[in-house]
Amino acid sequence: MRTTPEQRIRDLQHFGEEGGVVPVIDLAATATFLNPKDMEQTFLGEKEGCYLYSRHSNPTVNMFSQKMAALENTESALGVASGMAAIACTLEQLMSDGGEIVSSLTVYGGTYALFKNIFPKQNIKVNFVDVEDFSAIEQAITPRTKVLYAETISNPLLKLSNIKKLSEIAKKHKLTLVIDNTFAPCLITPADLGADIVIHSCTKFISGSSDMIAGVICASKEFIASLIDVNHGAVMLKGPVMDARIAHELYMRLDHLPVRMKAHSVAAQFLADSFLKNNIPVIYPGLKTHAQHADYQNAINTGYGFGGMMAIELESAEKAMHLAQALQNEKFGLYAVSLGFSRTLMTVPAITTSSEITADDQQKMKLSKGLLRLSIGYTGNESVMLERFLKIYKNI
Ligand SMILES: *Cc1c(COP(=O)(O)O)cnc(C)c1O
Repeated sequence: MRTTPEQRIRDLQHFGEEGGVVPVIDLAATATFLNPKDMEQTFLGEKEGCYLYSRHSNPTVNMFSQKMAALENTESALGVASGMAAIACTLEQLMSDGGEIVSSLTVYGGTYALFKNIFPKQNIKVNFVDVEDFSAIEQAITPRTKVLYAETISNPLLKLSNIKKLSEIAKKHKLTLVIDNTFAPCLITPADLGADIVIHSCTKFISGSSDMIAGVICASKEFIASLIDVNHGAVMLKGPVMDARIAHELYMRLDHLPVRMKAHSVAAQFLADSFLKNNIPVIYPGLKTHAQHADYQNAINTGYGFGGMMAIELESAEKAMHLAQALQNEKFGLYAVSLGFSRTLMTVPAITTSSEITADDQQKMKLSKGLLRLSIGYTGNESVMLERFLKIYKNI
């Protein structure tokens, strides 16, 4: 039987020092060596397995990282300070002597701004393409291209990337396929579909409580080791490391991530079905009306549903903001950026979370000004939530 993300997380066990059922938090910034020779060899990269200094590696961060590697079915992983740190360090490590990246145009606003405004100054050129247009991808690849970059489920339009096909293209041109799986932990395992490196903003579903900023890079042992190399590692030398306290929190929360993902999906599916019945223009991958419903069914791990993200088309940004405000007053959800919280969060991406994307590019990716993005929470009775929504929606 194929292993599931849930089972892989479950089967990884760490104990506390005195046999506790949870591991301890190892806060030490530095570690003693009984033999000074071992320290010298650790610096020379001749000795493995010694803890040196917490910017290099930390036992608690390593435990969280192992659990993320289990979730994403990769050889290794590394927890870092934020999702942006995961993206920036991964790409800087891969592009250390410059070159080109072919990236999906529909990426997170911060990623888009990093690619468009900062990377060119570091001799890294990014060519943005429609990730569904495979011939456009092939055409954008040059001899200098090293990386193909996309998000599993695009933000905010919820288009599914064909990771299998992207992986074929990447292999053919010897590129590294990097996938941001922030929207779909448990639901989709990009490494199973051919991704080389999978990154997450753990600030979202993996935390689940909107109370911390964190990220992770899941990849081969070799790539993770390169990130913490004392002479060339992007994480080691730029320093956006994960704190041991955060790592411990997230380590514990990973046990209930599968349960939370299912709960998000159940609530979102109920609302999406009901919205459709009420002729509300809703975009949700779990609906037969979604253009890629069948593709989703092929790509997702069964049992987790279609996720917690949803969008509703309104005529204008003003109307979308007005609806969101009224819904907030009715205690349907909160008007706030981010996603993956236990409660429903709402934003109008075109003027907020995707505002870094130029008007021209927004048009190219067909992002309309009036799109309301919802990250559906699982708290509260779903029928009550629906009633509140319909009452407000009918009156705007
Ligand atoms: C939030 C987000 C990021 C950035 O993560 P931070 O933890 O805020 O740095 C990257 N990608 C996606 C898809 C996101 O939603």
